Amino acid sequence: MKFLRFKINGKKKTGILNGDSITEIKGSMLEALNSKQLEKAGIFKLKDVEVLPPVSPSKVVCVGLNYRDHAKELDMKLPTEPTLFIKPSTAVVGYGDDVIYPEDSTQLDYEAELGIVIFKEAHHVKEEDAADFIGGYTILNDVTARDKQRKDIQWTRAKSFDTFAPIGPCVETELDPTNQNISLKLNNELRQDSNTKHMIFNAYKLVEFISNVMTLKPGDVIGTGTPPGVGSMQVGDMVEVSIERIGTLKNVIKA
Ligand code: MG
Repeated sequence: MKFLRFKINGKKKTGILNGDSITEIKGSMLEALNSKQLEKAGIFKLKDVEVLPPVSPSKVVCVGLNYRDHAKELDMKLPTEPTLFIKPSTAVVGYGDDVIYPEDSTQLDYEAELGIVIFKEAHHVKEEDAADFIGGYTILNDVTARDKQRKDIQWTRAKSFDTFAPIGPCVETELDPTNQNISLKLNNELRQDSNTKHMIFNAYKLVEFISNVMTLKPGDVIGTGTPPGVGSMQVGDMVEVSIERIGTLKNVIKA
C-alpha cells in the first residue's frame, strides 16, 4: 500500500495512492497502520492535489558511506560500523517542492537514498525484530552543500539547510528493502543507477544500530546512504530520484 499526504482546497489529508487516483482515509498513516483498519473517505485525482511530505519526522537520521559500489568508486575501505548524522526536521520538504541553493554554497550535491519510515517507538531493537518497527519505505534526496562538508569537521551545516531533505512522494508499506533498484536523473539524464542489495548495512541492521544509540519515534526517517554517481546540481535543475515500487521524488533547484 502506498500512503501519501496531500492538500486540496486548503485542507491536509491522508490517502492511499492507486495509480493516479487517491482514496482518502480518516486519520493519519501511523493511526491506520496501528489499527489495521482503513476508514475510507473521498476519492481524488493525483493531478488535482498538492503532494505533502508523507510524514513529519522528529528527526532524519542518515548514514554515511553505505553502498559497496560507492565505496569502490571512491576507492575507500568498507566501514566496520555506520557513520551517523542527523538532518533536522526543518530541512524536510516534499514532492514538487523547491530545493533552495544556499547563497554562500559553491557546490550543491544530490544523493539518492532509500528512506526507512519508523512507525513504532524503537529503542534497543534487534535486527531480527526491526521489521516490526518499520511502517514502510520512502525516497529521500540527501541534499548536501559539499563545500561546507569538506570545510567543516562536523557535517551539520552541510546537511541541514532548509529544504535539504526532500522526502516522498509516498510511503510503500510492502517492500523488500534489500533488493530494489534505485536511480537518479538530473534533467532527464541518468546519473545514479544501483540496487539496495549493494548496501553494506541493510535496513534492519541500521534500525538495530541506530535504535541502540537513540530512540526512534513514529514518523522518523532513516536515510540509508547513496549509491555511486553522486554529483552537483545548479539553479534551475530538475532532480528525480526513483525507487522500484515506490515511485519518483521530483524537485527543482531554486536560488
Ligand atoms: Mg547521504
